[in-house]
Amino acid sequence: MQEIKDLLYEELKEILEKEGFPSYRAGQIFKWIYKKFVCNFKEMTDIKKEEREYLERNFENYIPEICERISSADGTKKYAFLLKDKKVIESVLIPDGKRLTVCVSTQVGCPLGCTFCKTGKMGFIRNLSTSEILSQIIAIARDVGVKPTNIVFMGMGEPLLNLKNLVRALKIITSEEGMNFSPRKVTVSTAGIPHLIEELGKSVRISLSLSLNAPDNETRSKIMPVNNKYPIEEIMAAIERYPHPPKSLFTIEYVMIKGVNSSIDHAKKLASLLKKSKRRFKVNLINFNPFEGCEFEPVGDEIFKFQEELLKNSISTTIRKRKGADINAACGQLGGIASLYLKTQEV
Ligand code: SF4
Repeated sequence: MQEIKDLLYEELKEILEKEGFPSYRAGQIFKWIYKKFVCNFKEMTDIKKEEREYLERNFENYIPEICERISSADGTKKYAFLLKDKKVIESVLIPDGKRLTVCVSTQVGCPLGCTFCKTGKMGFIRNLSTSEILSQIIAIARDVGVKPTNIVFMGMGEPLLNLKNLVRALKIITSEEGMNFSPRKVTVSTAGIPHLIEELGKSVRISLSLSLNAPDNETRSKIMPVNNKYPIEEIMAAIERYPHPPKSLFTIEYVMIKGVNSSIDHAKKLASLLKKSKRRFKVNLINFNPFEGCEFEPVGDEIFKFQEELLKNSISTTIRKRKGADINAACGQLGGIASLYLKTQEV
């Protein structure tokens, strides 16, 4: 059966019009699903009974079951969702003042194998469908009873390697008929795949951020094997061409790992790399979040010295608050529950 959340507004409208539905019906259905987060066609009370029955016969509106929900002392919540094929993905809800951010996954596992990331250790299982991407936001909004304010694609997987479904989900997230998020409130984070950065820029206008983590190819290739294929220069060129929303700074994420990428020399190299570009950047320093079986360690005060060096070079630099580290929901820590479920399935 066709999953209704895999369809864009225009596609649903066309199907329903062919069936004799009035042209405004698709808008009403989208409103129920993406604004009121309703999963059952029976609850769509402004739609005629026969039409609701048609929807039930022809479409699914499936939301994966929440199989784990763990709350952190700082208010962060990690969710694990059991998909239809029994694979598990993780998403995170991060409250911060008035901001309520959902961190979304795009793949089960990840093929890029960054050595500091727990998801990378899982390997790649499969891409998520458009509906599975959107369902994470809907399920979390239903669980907490409010619409989140921001969406970040920083969960499991490299979003650009699931470009088709990512773009469809982004269109629904930002469209007036869909969730109606401002593109400024939605950020896709990438490890940097130049031709896919260009493709994304042609398809949607959305904030992009780069998970850079090292200022030179030698260091970066040690922790991010994808860098052997796409060196920093090619990524930075693609970023310069990317149609980022105007007036906003482009974010560079930088995970600080003790003895690997955190020296003053690295900070100097990073400053000079960013100053070469025509783009204006903001660097977000993230202290490494350890997980079981990982050989790396977080830094201590080096993070402040690193920040100071960048600020000296007039580069806006923030240190990300550690959110959800006690429940393994922090950056780079997702995949623990998903791996456990995978192991159970292998037995
Ligand atoms: Fe994949 Fe991102 Fe983890 Fe790298 S950091 S392995 S791109 S999920």
